[in-house]
Formats: sequence, structure tokens, C-alpha cells
Amino acid sequence: MNIAIIGGGIGGLATANALFKKGFKVQVYERAQALRPIGAGLSLTPNGLNSLNAIQPAIVESIMSAGSPTHTLTLKRSTGEVIASEPMTTMQQYGQPMLNIQWSKLQAILASTLPPEIIHLQHHCVGFEQQDNKVEVHFANGKTVQADLLIGADGINSVVRQELIGDGTPTYAGRMSWRAVIQYPHEQLSPNIATLVTASDGKNIVLIDVGEGYTFWSAGVLLADDSVCQQASDAKARVLEFFAGWTEPVEAIIEATPEEDIVERPIWDRLPLPHWSKGRVTLLGDAAHPVVPSLGQGANMAFEDAYELAEYLSTAPDIETALNAYENSRVPRTEVIYNRSAVRGHDSYRPDSETTFVKMMNPSQMSQDDFQAWLYSYPPSIFH
Ligand SMILES: Cc1cc2nc3c(=O)[nH]c(=O)nc-3n(C[C@H](O)[C@H](O)[C@H](O)COP(=O)(O)OP(=O)(O)OC[C@H]3O[C@@H](n4cnc5c(N)ncnc54)[C@H](O)[C@@H]3O)c2cc1C
Repeated sequence: MNIAIIGGGIGGLATANALFKKGFKVQVYERAQALRPIGAGLSLTPNGLNSLNAIQPAIVESIMSAGSPTHTLTLKRSTGEVIASEPMTTMQQYGQPMLNIQWSKLQAILASTLPPEIIHLQHHCVGFEQQDNKVEVHFANGKTVQADLLIGADGINSVVRQELIGDGTPTYAGRMSWRAVIQYPHEQLSPNIATLVTASDGKNIVLIDVGEGYTFWSAGVLLADDSVCQQASDAKARVLEFFAGWTEPVEAIIEATPEEDIVERPIWDRLPLPHWSKGRVTLLGDAAHPVVPSLGQGANMAFEDAYELAEYLSTAPDIETALNAYENSRVPRTEVIYNRSAVRGHDSYRPDSETTFVKMMNPSQMSQDDFQAWLYSYPPSIFH
């Protein structure tokens, strides 16, 4: 079977690995000119790491050596007062750490286990046509390719989703985010510690050690307007203004970050879909089920998708049966995570946000225990 994947992001590359390992002929089409670093980090949780491990153990080994596990989660007020500090116990409870890594390193690791000739850069998909026995995929560079199956892993503004489902643009969640990765030694930025700093006026920032001396910071603010700055210097000035006077090292790390390294991005999601496959075309990752990043599950879910899709395709008698099984398994789970993420995202910016975060750190409250166990002990198996 010839499989075309649109999107060489985290989800598309994980899927390419899973399919390649099963012996499928797979090609990845990515619109970017190069897989170049972007200023972001990701937290990988046991469900995502177990899925990657089931796809290819060597990927997890590389991630473990490039990233950094969180041992302690600390919650502070913007004035610097420590509200709570809890050990991160996912290793003891679920056999995997909370592992933080730079986005670009993760992308490079996922690409490195694939033959380079199957990743086609500068291929911006602009549409496709389905026929009985094939899909024709069109690109902005004038090329057309044929495949037996098309997987749209092209993110929240997916062209494939637009053509397949046509449900318009994503919804702005009322929050703007700024993120960057920087080497910034500071006495309050110790290895293996993630620090969340919050205020009652709808702002928070997380500072996470992502390994090899780098810190990932990600700031969020309630904002009615979703327009982003045209100049990098304006984006930096804006985030600096929002976090002026916050406890160290918040202001200092933003100040020290080169303006061109700061990614300013509105937070969007889309309502869950009851189905995301038709004929020989399906969706995966953010193209299928984008969520606000309050639980840090977007990439982790994409890894679960990748594992399951490859399993169903290699065991089902035909594409339609495989895509039905994939959807039937993935839609309910991703919908629960969508709902939890939406509620958590909303509560994280309320005036009593610190109460939400304290509960989040203490799984025995808020029926968090059951949810966390369900989320993190996801078994990478299609027979669950
Ligand atoms: C602030 C923030 C923090 C986050 N933190 C976490 C976290 O800690 N843990 C976690 O699990 N998730 C986190 N996420 C979510 C995570 O980033 C996404 O869920 C994940 O990147 C989805 O991967 P994807 O491959 O589906 O989509 P993307 O990463 O968006 O990749 C899509 C790829 O497709 C390409 N593409 C798009 N359109 C086309 C086209 N027409 N033709 C060809 N190529 C195309 C793009 O260039 C891109 O490379 C966070 C998100 C945000 C915004």
C-alpha cells in the first residue's frame, strides 16, 4: 500500500515511523523549506512515551537522552510566594517520566529514523481528489502524486480536513501565548524542575527544563483580540509588558530571549468530530482533534493515533475497515481529553486559578486520580 502523509510535524513523522516499521510504502509531504528549529518545548507523558516505544523503542531512547524528566512541579504566585511544590510521580505510578524536550530535537529524532528520501519538503498540499482505487494529491509547486491512502497530519489549519470535512476555521479560545527556548542559567531554574507562576488577573507562565541546559518558557494571557504583532520586537514588548514586575526569573528570562526566537500565537481549538475519515482519506493529530494546550496532550495524542492507525492498517482486511476501527477507537478518547483540556484551560485563567493548579498537582482531589490513571496508563494496543 502506498501511503501519503501531509505534514512533517510531530504527528506526521511519528506516523511515518509507525507505518514504515510495518512495511508500508510511505511518503511525507511538508510545506516548509526545512525542518528548522522553532522556539518551543513539549512535555511528553507516559501515554505518549509508551506509544512511541511501541512504534520504535530507539526513538524513546534518543528522546530520553536529549530531554529532561520533571522530578518536581512548583507553583508560585507572581509575587514569588511558593504555593505548592510536589514531586512528579509518573515514573513510579505509570513507569514513564514526564519528559520535556525541545520541539525541534523531537522532530529531528523522529525524522532521523526514516529514510531521508521519503520526506519531501516544499510540498504544500492544496487539495486532493478521491477515486475508487486511489487518491490524487495536489501541491502548490504544481506536482500531483497518487496514493492508496492519504493521511492529513497537517495541523490545526489542515487543508485535508477542510476538503474532507469543511468545518471552517478554528475557534479562538480567548488566550494569547508566547513561547521560546533559551539557554538561561539562573539560580531558580534548576534541572528537573518545572515552575508554574500564576496570577489572579488571567495570566500565567511555565518555565520548564527541557534538557541540555535549555529552558522552555510558555506564557499565556487572556486577550479578547486574537491579532498577532507584525514585528518580532512588538511581540516581545507586548509579553514583557504583560509580565512586568513578576517574580524572578520571569521578567529576566523574557528580557534575555532574542525577539526573533519568541513565538506569539493565539490559542485555538475546534469542536470534536464524530468522524474524520472518508473513503481513502483520514486525519491525525491536530488536524483531527486540536485541543487547547492546558493538559499538554496534543502531541501525546498524536503518538497514540500514529501507533493505532498503523496497527489497524496492518491487521484489517481493507482500508475502510481499518479507518473505521481507528476512528471508533480514537474519537471517544480524544473527545474526553478535549473536554478536560477545555475546562482546565478555562479554569487556569480565572481569578482563582491557583486553586485549579493546586488541585491539578494533587491527584487525590477533583477525581483527578481516575482521570490521570485513565490518561497515562493508556496501553498501546488496539485490543483495549
Ligand atoms: C503553547 C503550546 C504548548 C503545547 N504544549 C504541549 C505539550 O507540552 N505536550 C503536548 O503533547 N502537546 C503540546 N502542545 C500541542 C502540540 O504542539 C500539538 O498537538 C502537536 O504539535 C500536533 O502535532 P501535528 O503533527 O498534528 O501538527 P503540527 O505540529 O501543527 O504539524 C503540522 C505540520 O504540517 C505542515 N503543514 C501544514 N499544512 C500543510 C500543507 N497544506 N501541506 C503540507 N504541509 C503542511 C506544517 O508545516 C507542520 O509541519 C502545545 C501546543 C501549544 C500551542
